[in-house]
Amino acid sequence: MTRVLWNARFMYHARGIRAAARYVFLILLLNGCATAIDTHKPAPPGWPVLTVRDNVVTGYEVLRRCYKYLPAHVKLLGGIPMACAEVNFAARTCDIWRARDASPEIMDHERMHCAGKDHPGETWAQDALSSYRSAL
Ligand SMILES: [Zn+2]
Repeated sequence: MTRVLWNARFMYHARGIRAAARYVFLILLLNGCATAIDTHKPAPPGWPVLTVRDNVVTGYEVLRRCYKYLPAHVKLLGGIPMACAEVNFAARTCDIWRARDASPEIMDHERMHCAGKDHPGETWAQDALSSYRSAL
């Protein structure tokens, strides 16, 4: 298996919508892909305890690391990532990549992803864990 398969990668939220496109932000909120985490749904069974590493990087680096995780429709609407988290089950780590001025809400959001939480209606966490287990 390649390392990529071992690295379950998470993330995206489109909180960084430009102020000039506020209507776009509203659309994203309505379809549930902005910053919401499904706090009612438990993490997938067997989700490991991961060491969370908070990586404070430049805005450019956040874009470089996180833009690829944005859904296509969010990219088309001008969304930019404010942070992302990358889970590595083999190393039992979760790296949060964020700019220095990331809000506490963004950090909470990313930490919840590290704990196996997902956006409403999404199954990324379960899918990633299942892929990892099947590759063992
Ligand atoms: Zn998210």
